[in-house]
Amino acid sequence: MDEVILEAEHMKKIYNYRTPNAFEALHDINIQVRKGEFIGIMGPSGAGKSTFINNISTIDQYTEGHVKIKGKEIRTMSSNEIGRFRFKNLGFIFQDFNLLNTHTLFENIALPLSLADVPKKDIEPRVKALAEKMKIMSLLDKFPNECSGGQRQRAAICRALINDPEIIVADEPTGNLDSANSTELMHILQQLNDERGVTIIMVTHDPLITSYTKRLVFIKDGYIERELEKGDMTQEEYFQKIVDLNAEESREVLQK
Ligand code: ADP
Repeated sequence: MDEVILEAEHMKKIYNYRTPNAFEALHDINIQVRKGEFIGIMGPSGAGKSTFINNISTIDQYTEGHVKIKGKEIRTMSSNEIGRFRFKNLGFIFQDFNLLNTHTLFENIALPLSLADVPKKDIEPRVKALAEKMKIMSLLDKFPNECSGGQRQRAAICRALINDPEIIVADEPTGNLDSANSTELMHILQQLNDERGVTIIMVTHDPLITSYTKRLVFIKDGYIERELEKGDMTQEEYFQKIVDLNAEESREVLQK
């Protein structure tokens, strides 16, 4: 069995905890993510997908239970430690790219290194090497609003990868991309997963996008409701199973 790189045990998230507006968005989440996995998180809108991904990746603070990344319980870390831990281990990709519009693509990609006090002379070659690979070398002096959605997402991927993270967390990364750019992004993620063993956890509502993963985790009403492993299935067979599972779930809603 491969090494467990991330795990949640009885994780609960209550928004507005201890206030009259308290809302339990995640009830009892148990999951083990092995090194080198590529997981797709699906589920209806409001099911808790973003809450899940934020709480297992240091972005938000779970209310109860345990989350460990590389054996380290997130809750025990100070905010300084979390910052360093993130830089060492995690890369984030978001739907709206989250690039700073007042910074060039170069500056955006370099930001995690600058924040981690990497010497200036080491920053430029690292940014350029990655930009070359992601085919945005000629855009490094441009600002995000001078670039297309696909180009911006490439820059966001460079920023996520600049620290060479072992885990990539992505929330609807293809949400603002057309289908050609979405497919290209999935090929990039698949390659990182296959060739460099990067562990990827990705939220998406799209069965086609999920078909690039190796395991589907379906969240509903704040619980992990179902899981599906790709195993020996072809991508097409896996895709069909993902479509069927989503259709079954939707049918249940209709029948209620
Ligand atoms: P999904 O990503 O599956 O659409 P979310 O994780 O965004 O779902 O939300 C799960 C539930 O938690 C929803 O009912 C949502 O309204 C609620 N929720 C999300 N963020 C907050 C917040 N900051 N404060 C209170 N409730 C929230």
